Amino acid sequence: MENIIIMTTTITYRELLPSEVGLLKTFVYEAIFVPEGVEPPPFEIVCKPEIALYYNNFGSGNADFCIVAVDGYKVVGAVWTRIMNDYGHIDDNTPSFAISLFKEYRGKGIGTTLMIKMLDVLKNHGYKRASLAVQKANYAVKMYKKVGFEIVDENDEEYIMVWRGLMLEKEIAAYLSRSGNKSLDVKAFLFDMDGVLFDSMPFHARSWCSAMKEFGLSITEQQAYMNEGRTGASTINELALQQWGRQATQKEIDDIYKRKVELFVSCGDAEPMKGAVELLENIRKAGLKIVLVTGSGQKSLLNRLNRFFPGIFAPENMVTAYDVKYGKPNPEPYLMGLQKAGVSASEAVVVENAPLGVRAGVAAGIFTIAVNTGPLPDEVLAKEGANVIFPSIQYLAENWGEVWKELRR
Ligand code: MG
Repeated sequence: MENIIIMTTTITYRELLPSEVGLLKTFVYEAIFVPEGVEPPPFEIVCKPEIALYYNNFGSGNADFCIVAVDGYKVVGAVWTRIMNDYGHIDDNTPSFAISLFKEYRGKGIGTTLMIKMLDVLKNHGYKRASLAVQKANYAVKMYKKVGFEIVDENDEEYIMVWRGLMLEKEIAAYLSRSGNKSLDVKAFLFDMDGVLFDSMPFHARSWCSAMKEFGLSITEQQAYMNEGRTGASTINELALQQWGRQATQKEIDDIYKRKVELFVSCGDAEPMKGAVELLENIRKAGLKIVLVTGSGQKSLLNRLNRFFPGIFAPENMVTAYDVKYGKPNPEPYLMGLQKAGVSASEAVVVENAPLGVRAGVAAGIFTIAVNTGPLPDEVLAKEGANVIFPSIQYLAENWGEVWKELRR
């Protein structure tokens, strides 16, 4: 018989004690990224001046903060910040981040928790930015993105990443000057569905590729993401014009779309996007109206809205493919959404993941939040005029309190 050892550990988090500052030497050593198959450097490397600046006289600077993860009595990880001239330094007001976990504690979400706690500390102390440098091959890049860091610069080996606190002042000012509205007084949220409320885009992209192929048209998954937001008929027509040199007939549109729907349904049920339920609940609690604005005519998804988001979406606050003439990227669906919410453009916020959806929201004169939940680069959404870009719905959900505070200022 096999022996099964079940390890249950409870990690707790607290500030580093002054008596523990010496530990930072160990953690800075652990933080040195050693690619697989490469011999780790000797411990003495931590005495080099460019590394010692991470821990020398720690606690003496204004932005010297450290939070540790503790297993039992043992400190197993640390995140700390300081304004220092390290690789991640961007200016003398921005703390740099260092984070380190013992190997056996990596990949368990402890690093993410440490980062989130530290970002809270920085926010509470009024810091609006933080930066770090990370080797491109380091698995931590993904985690940094998840908590809101974005790549602002790079060299051959490293990325410089910056986290910007949720200060929407500049974004709101830019929105007001471009839209000509005098103020933003948010009373309603207009939500796109695919890639925002449901994690359905991978299924859509795949089914579009297969369905088109069966009818002699071709589309890549990337193109499917770029075209997201259009009604099915419009997507088919665009391709027919490009590849056949003519409009698709109504029958062709019906046949291809029918096939696409079949393939989509055969992919199984798309899950609600992580964080979507909490986000909608909090928006409702804040007394705001919620309207769905989707280019989808996918009944299988529309019917599931009520199951996952009970009581939020009734037919009178939904705009779907069945209601519109043009569809996104035309502002029409979002203008209809405003009507259904009974508010004006400067009283609403759009939440979109697709470039064409962002274009539609912006064209309707609405403050548009893009959530980049797919494979396209942020620049594509920025180019369409997104007022702000968040990395995920979960990020928006986790930061709802602050977003709402910023929007009301
Ligand atoms: Mg979408």
